[in-house]
Amino acid sequence: MSKIDLTGQKFGRLTVLRDVGRSPAGNVLWQCLCRCGNTKVVDSKSLRRSGTKSCGCLHSENGRRTGRKNTVYRLARPGGGSIEDLEDLIR
Ligand SMILES: [Zn+2]
Repeated sequence: MSKIDLTGQKFGRLTVLRDVGRSPAGNVLWQCLCRCGNTKVVDSKSLRRSGTKSCGCLHSENGRRTGRKNTVYRLARPGGGSIEDLEDLIR
């Protein structure tokens, strides 16, 4: 299996920092930095299938499905940031 260099690429909230080895299944493991400041190790398969888009913080915020994320953010950040900031975070 050839290695695909994902360094610097972004997947949801995650930015790939560096590879840290391989999983038992042979997938490259990548250390990723989440927007929230956490780091998470994700294998290449999960990243490229877009199954993993955050360290886990996105998952909890997504509990109410698409379309309500804006509301969640406004509640979570009262008075903080502009609409552009919010949209950038959601992306
Ligand atoms: Zn996070």
